[in-house]
Amino acid sequence: MKPFQIFNTLTRKVEEFIPLNPPLATMYSCGPTVYLPQHLGNMRAYLFVDTLKRAMRLHGYDVRHVMNITDVGHMTSDEDEGEDKIEKTARAQGKSPLEIANFYIAQFQRDLAALNIEPPMNYTRATDHIGDMIVLIQRIIDHGYAYVTNSGVYFEVEKWRGPDRIGRLSRQSLDEQHAGQRLDHSTDKKNPHDFALWVLNQPSHIMQWESPWGRGYPGWHIECSAMSIRYLGETIDLHTGGLDHIPIHHENEIAQSESATGHPFVRYFVHNAFLLGMEGAKISKSAGKFPLVDDLTAAGIDPLAFRLFCFGAKYRSELAFSLESARGAQKNLEYFWEFAYALPDDAAAAAADSDWALDYERNFAAALADDLNTPRALAVALDLVGEAYRRQDRKIWHSLRRLDSVLGLGLEERRLAAQAQFPETVRKLRSERDAARAAKDFQRSDELRLRIIAEGYEVKDTPGGTLISPRRASLS
Ligand code: AMP
Ligand code: ZN
Repeated sequence: MKPFQIFNTLTRKVEEFIPLNPPLATMYSCGPTVYLPQHLGNMRAYLFVDTLKRAMRLHGYDVRHVMNITDVGHMTSDEDEGEDKIEKTARAQGKSPLEIANFYIAQFQRDLAALNIEPPMNYTRATDHIGDMIVLIQRIIDHGYAYVTNSGVYFEVEKWRGPDRIGRLSRQSLDEQHAGQRLDHSTDKKNPHDFALWVLNQPSHIMQWESPWGRGYPGWHIECSAMSIRYLGETIDLHTGGLDHIPIHHENEIAQSESATGHPFVRYFVHNAFLLGMEGAKISKSAGKFPLVDDLTAAGIDPLAFRLFCFGAKYRSELAFSLESARGAQKNLEYFWEFAYALPDDAAAAAADSDWALDYERNFAAALADDLNTPRALAVALDLVGEAYRRQDRKIWHSLRRLDSVLGLGLEERRLAAQAQFPETVRKLRSERDAARAAKDFQRSDELRLRIIAEGYEVKDTPGGTLISPRRASLS
């Protein structure tokens, strides 16, 4: 393993990453609530996780990653008030909560695939883990941090006060954390800040389970504590989420987990900043209108251009999205593709790269190890290709593929897919033409060009070699 630095929200410092059991790095990510499509803001959060995972793997860590899917218990306010988000959509569409959840899960996974985001080891659904939540709630009650009333089981926040307790992550008082939220005083909670672990006596709620305290359903936060403990252990190395989760959701996860186990819950909390709309506001579902992966494709933008767009900004900086800016990122994407597609077969098949390429690999890795400095890493990757053109030495394919293991552009798969479109005769003509151009035999090169066109292909000269594509069909 090589050193890796990351900003830890717990300490507000960039720290050396030291996992509990190296080279294993356990990582839990708060995933989607599946009642609406996930927008590009959400996708920024998942791209951040994917990039972090890939970068840590490049540094020798064996990342074990779990992401939850919330399909029950998330109310229309992040507090315990309002309606269950999934049941609200189910009622509006005349469908069952299961149908709603399954529909949006399929859409979510399709969008992740379009962005080449690797699936986690497990997608854990809240409704599949009710038993784990009940066991955890009982542990919290047994340790004296939760109480049962007629309306539910509540976490007693007053008991969880102290320097290392509530407010440790957000560095906010309870009132500050809940600012702008309507706290309902009408329930039988001891304190309006107490939050629900289990909700009872809500007959209109569709999804209900038996529990030691009566029929009901879980609060939103408990699923993340229960599922991370179940799959990753009582102390995990990394926990991700967007900045909006720091107050309330992650504070509550810490309180639940640590009061139940007596151990630290998370060693490094890492949070991504927001993707903003052009008007400067956070892209959010509550705004009613939000951009989706489908909007990119409808505008003729490859979803991987959005991937590169996010890669081009630091994860801790806000990023303003527009179709125009994604189109700009597509230029960089095409720059990489063009290089990969036009790469002469002998350069692609070379046993080793030219020595100079190694410096670029080192600089790329060093940028990522520096609190995931992706804009710097992207500049290095672009420069590697630029330098190959400048030197007229294209033996960088091994290095470029290693960089792409983090960039996630699937360059090798796309090159192979593009190559597979061409019959052997055309591939041979292309190689011969590359050789003629290298030897500055322009007459022969022109002849070969015409022969490739006669086979039904378009020919484009690029600094990297002959780029061929089926006539009138796009390679992408
Ligand atoms: P949700 O489905 O709203 O619970 O959000 C899923 C993930 O996306 C969470 O980690 C959120 O913090 C994150 N998220 C939501 N909106 C944005 C945004 N505009 N930019 C970046 N991340 C976001
Ligand atoms: Zn969570």
